[in-house]
Amino acid sequence: MTSQSRSQDATPEIPRQSMEADIVCVGFGPAVAGFLTTLTRGLTGEDGMPVAESRVMPGMAPQIMCYERADDIGFGVSGVVTRGRAIRASFPDLDPAAIPLAHAVTSEKVAYLFDPLGASRRSRGLRAAEAAARRLPWHDKALAALELPWIPPFLRKEPGFVLSMGQFTQWVGGQIMGTGLAQVWPGTPVAAPLVEDGRVRGVRLADQGVNRKGEPEAGFMPGMDVTAALTVVGDGPVGPVGRAIDAALGLPAGRHQRDWALGMKAVVQLPEGCPLAPGTVVHTLGFPEPEIFGFLYVYPEGVASLGIFVPSWFDSPVRTAYRYLQHWMRHPYLWRWLEGGTLRSWGAKTLAEWGRHGEPFLAGDGYARIGECSGSTNVLTGSGVDEAWATGVLLGEGVLELLRQGREFTRENLEEVYVSRRRRSWVEQEARVAEKSRDGFQWGVIQGLVGMALTGLSGGSLNLSPAVKRPHERIPALERYCRGRIPDREVAELRAACRAEGRSLHDAVMDRMGWPQVEYDGKLLVSHQDALLLGGKVQAGPGYADHVRFKDHGLCAACTEQVCISACSGQAITANPEAGPPLFDREKCVHCGACLWNCSRPDPADPEAANVSFGAGSGGLHSNEN
Ligand SMILES: Cc1cc2nc3c(=O)[nH]c(=O)nc-3n(C[C@H](O)[C@H](O)[C@H](O)COP(=O)(O)OP(=O)(O)OC[C@H]3O[C@@H](n4cnc5c(N)ncnc54)[C@H](O)[C@@H]3O)c2cc1C
Ligand code: SF4
Ligand code: SF4
Repeated sequence: MTSQSRSQDATPEIPRQSMEADIVCVGFGPAVAGFLTTLTRGLTGEDGMPVAESRVMPGMAPQIMCYERADDIGFGVSGVVTRGRAIRASFPDLDPAAIPLAHAVTSEKVAYLFDPLGASRRSRGLRAAEAAARRLPWHDKALAALELPWIPPFLRKEPGFVLSMGQFTQWVGGQIMGTGLAQVWPGTPVAAPLVEDGRVRGVRLADQGVNRKGEPEAGFMPGMDVTAALTVVGDGPVGPVGRAIDAALGLPAGRHQRDWALGMKAVVQLPEGCPLAPGTVVHTLGFPEPEIFGFLYVYPEGVASLGIFVPSWFDSPVRTAYRYLQHWMRHPYLWRWLEGGTLRSWGAKTLAEWGRHGEPFLAGDGYARIGECSGSTNVLTGSGVDEAWATGVLLGEGVLELLRQGREFTRENLEEVYVSRRRRSWVEQEARVAEKSRDGFQWGVIQGLVGMALTGLSGGSLNLSPAVKRPHERIPALERYCRGRIPDREVAELRAACRAEGRSLHDAVMDRMGWPQVEYDGKLLVSHQDALLLGGKVQAGPGYADHVRFKDHGLCAACTEQVCISACSGQAITANPEAGPPLFDREKCVHCGACLWNCSRPDPADPEAANVSFGAGSGGLHSNEN
């Protein structure tokens, strides 16, 4: 299968190893896990023989490879509470007790959190609504919270389960590899698709033994080309392979990928005596800023998964998720449960909130897209795992059909067996309902909540649906964001002082806005750097190029907001004390992808893109509990 070859794309001058496979998959999240589960099960006929033969190794079963960027399976970040319809369909006898940290959902709460500090930015309309809400009987003054007496059906997850996505994907991965029919290779970032004349003919793995700019050094090992009749792209919300295909082939007319959110989460050992029962699901809104949603799910053994989402429609140039996460945990409604708890792990990841708005071409000659990179995440129900799994299953069924019939992986055939299945599925029907559900947030929080309620309760026939702005169009100048709270002159002074002293501007602005310093307890409330080391256990293998790059250095030099710095989940992007773009430290990057869309300047060559490029890289989180 292995030979020397010269490839046709980005760096044709470098001789590379190449390998032929039948099917190559990018990423091992729930989407590809669902695909490979379905495919490997269906590949063996009732007589115990493979139902199809490999084209590249005649006489053998099809050769199926999967490359995962992270250093091990399950080293990603997710919630997770899920209704688990598709997962249960794949595992009808599933007992959550078989998967570490999984449990059936036992109770659900949605709580509105008032601001007990008076530090958040709340519009006049929201303050008036809050004043009225405080008079309701469900308002708990001591906890500064109001638990909704009723949860709309579209938000309910019962009967579902809470689980750790890390533990779940490891559990599934073991079963897939146990079949001997597919190989999953973690620690192997895929650099790019191999696109030739509009056809995807495989993938190129990332070069190793290069310096930060990607230039060969001692021990240079050019990334191998893996060619395959079918490339399955399931590389998640910010995957470079899916985005490269979009760049090469474009998005369908009228589609855009403008809605995003950064999810930052922690896995916490709850304190002794915490009354929360396994399977408890809590969702919050209203605090630390009205735009920031929160979640807390209780696993067995006194462990909880909790965190916040900072969305792209949060019009703030100081989006520092880590500090907001800590203020959220300190809210009296949550702190009564968390005080005395211990951080077990921590991480961050982007959520593609564009859903069906940004659905790319789902299939083309030689490739198919599944999971979140294909727009499967449902932003109305807040559910992505089961949808990703379901799209993988649908593709798996379609691919088995083509393999059994000996047909090619052409666009027409993949549309017939996969895209049409998907169009008929519940994933599609629910995605159509959800498509415009979040658009109201473009106008503000109250309008957003009203829009969601309208969409959810009307089954998608009523929506508030203004045009969706590009992320960079939503980032105001700091002066405008602070107006009414900090005079322009003082903002300018703060900016100059922070630059001169190498201090963080977003921290200084939050301090000045009235956010108190977070008192670290050394267990749960730890410094951002400690969260990286203790919670994320972040590492970066040597010999890879920087996967975060600043495109136009002049734009960065002229940029006063530098949102990429405040939004960086790992403090991997820092201010440059000299003129030039911000500095990037690969060792601290958690691969959340937030820098890709948290930039206040558009790419001069593409108004839909930011001035940051985000490529394939190794390392990041080392935890399978997230
Ligand atoms: C904080 C947070 C909480 C969430 N909570 C919930 C929840 O409670 N319920 C729910 O249903 N959903 C939740 N989601 C959404 C859910 O996590 C996603 O919808 C789901 O993980 C999408 O699955 P996927 O397989 O498409 O992509 P991913 O899970 O993103 O998997 C993609 C995989 O591809 C790999 N990859 C990326 N680039 C490359 C490359 N170049 N080479 C090789 N591999 C690559 C990644 O490392 C990753 O393992 C949450 C998301 C976040 C961020
Ligand atoms: S990457 Fe974007 S936000 Fe960051 S400094 Fe450059 S232009 Fe500004
Ligand atoms: S540099 Fe890394 S940690 Fe920072 S925002 Fe980008 S992907 Fe996330």
